[in-house]
Amino acid sequence: MRVSVLPSPTSKHVVVIGAGPAGLTAAYELSKHQVPSTVVEADPHYVGGIARTVEHHGYRFDIGGHRFFSKNQEIEDLWTEVLGEEMLTRGRLSRIYYRGKYFDYPLKAMNALRNLGLVETVRCMSSYAWARLRPVKNPHTLDDWVSNQFGRRLFNIFFKTYTEKVWGIPTTELSADWAAQRIKGLNMVEAIKGALFPKRASGRGEVIKTLIDRFRYPRLGPGQMWETVAAGLARQGHPVKLGWKVTGIRRQGPTVTSVLAVDQAGEEHELTGQEFVSTLPVRTLVELMDPPPPEEVLIAATRLGYRDFLSVTLMIDRGDLFPDNWIYIHEPGVKVGRLQNFKNWSPSMVPDQSKTCLGMEYFCFEGDGLWTMSDAELIELGKRELAQLGMCRPEEVFDGCVVRMPKAYPVYDDEYQEHLKVIRDWLETVPNLHLCGRNGMHKYNNQDHSMMTALLVARRIAGVSDLDPWNVNADAEYHEEVRDGEDKTGRRVPSRVAS
Ligand SMILES: Cc1cc2nc3c(=O)[nH]c(=O)nc-3n(C[C@H](O)[C@H](O)[C@H](O)COP(=O)(O)OP(=O)(O)OC[C@H]3O[C@@H](n4cnc5c(N)ncnc54)[C@H](O)[C@@H]3O)c2cc1C
Repeated sequence: MRVSVLPSPTSKHVVVIGAGPAGLTAAYELSKHQVPSTVVEADPHYVGGIARTVEHHGYRFDIGGHRFFSKNQEIEDLWTEVLGEEMLTRGRLSRIYYRGKYFDYPLKAMNALRNLGLVETVRCMSSYAWARLRPVKNPHTLDDWVSNQFGRRLFNIFFKTYTEKVWGIPTTELSADWAAQRIKGLNMVEAIKGALFPKRASGRGEVIKTLIDRFRYPRLGPGQMWETVAAGLARQGHPVKLGWKVTGIRRQGPTVTSVLAVDQAGEEHELTGQEFVSTLPVRTLVELMDPPPPEEVLIAATRLGYRDFLSVTLMIDRGDLFPDNWIYIHEPGVKVGRLQNFKNWSPSMVPDQSKTCLGMEYFCFEGDGLWTMSDAELIELGKRELAQLGMCRPEEVFDGCVVRMPKAYPVYDDEYQEHLKVIRDWLETVPNLHLCGRNGMHKYNNQDHSMMTALLVARRIAGVSDLDPWNVNADAEYHEEVRDGEDKTGRRVPSRVAS
């Protein structure tokens, strides 16, 4: 292995690890302040990270459909600045598929009643009445908590299967706290009110997020945003090195001095700089430190968990399968969690309007049964499940492609904040290393949050602001104060109950 040392071109050169939304936003903002950077990305073909758009034989698709919406106007403006008219505004249609029926989502009373039918509706109401009369006392599992609120039958239809698919843990083992926070204030009475008057504002005058019925989307998918930013950076002399996997982060005393990266040919490069931005998963970042951090920091890093994800994309010889952008699959007999219909996100995602490109989303753990299946087996599984769901016949599928995305979801278990604190406390002693992004900060958040944290990091480095990126909340808004022990920045995810 030959080592080439890339010298720092100026007195302030920033090395950015990862060309996802966070890394590229950091480099983009740095360029606006005339601070040069080099972005190092492990993927040999794509920028955009989880928000990339993959291309296969002319068909374009996301790793999970990526809506562009933010409460933060600065982020909305940045998207417009980069793509202008290429940003489409799309209507949202996403329904729940259950036992051959499509339920509007958010739920609408008449539609739900029609789909459930009279007999099932009566059963659901009796089960609800039973839950009110005989609620589980002190419910501490998600199963019991939601059943108390809605009755067990409705819980089984609308909560159980999907939650178990996404998190890979039976709802009888998931903590009730998550549901209590996510569906706070929602019970049968509220649900019926919401179903009858779906677009009413909540008490705080905000439209509930899931009710947002429009979103923006780049004409050629989310990757178009990040390909455009990367191309602009390269034009201005800020390189984005594709296929360079970071394998080490060197320190001298507390200060990071360089990053080691191995390219596709196996050649090792050492990138020097004055400031370093990491969007690497926190666990990986800690493991790559040379010399390593103290033992307790290494241990804390190994305790951070992730949920992984894979997408089986199938091309189908039919023009019109369903009108939704995506469908939640609550059907118990199949493993697929969601279906994305990419031409309904943007017609330009398919080269031929007489065909359809469906993304079948499977939630999994790296190394589990689904993850280790071959691509051919996964494509066969996808075809079988589409047929089982009555979407199309297997022989109508003429092409397919599998994308595996490790560490798609940082897991918030009971202990993650404790571990993250140990790591953050140590990282504060490393003054020229800055963390931003989703896995970069172990935050289960959208692009807007990842981008906002990156903007703040870049401004700190450029010396134009000292706002703390850890104070950006899940809506990508900056909050001056976060009380000790409180984490306002993340969307909650369920955790396993202690046995
Ligand atoms: C299924 C799914 C659906 C989503 N839907 C939406 C949505 O609708 N709207 C929305 O706004 N957000 C959505 N998100 C969230 C969005 O994808 C993330 O917030 C965003 O991609 C995070 O950006 P990031 O740059 O922090 O991280 P990432 O996108 O993870 O990018 C990190 C980059 O670092 C690179 N990297 C990793 N290791 C190395 C290494 N050793 N050396 C060099 N490079 C490395 C990776 O290859 C990657 O390119 C969704 C996420 C998922 C999983």
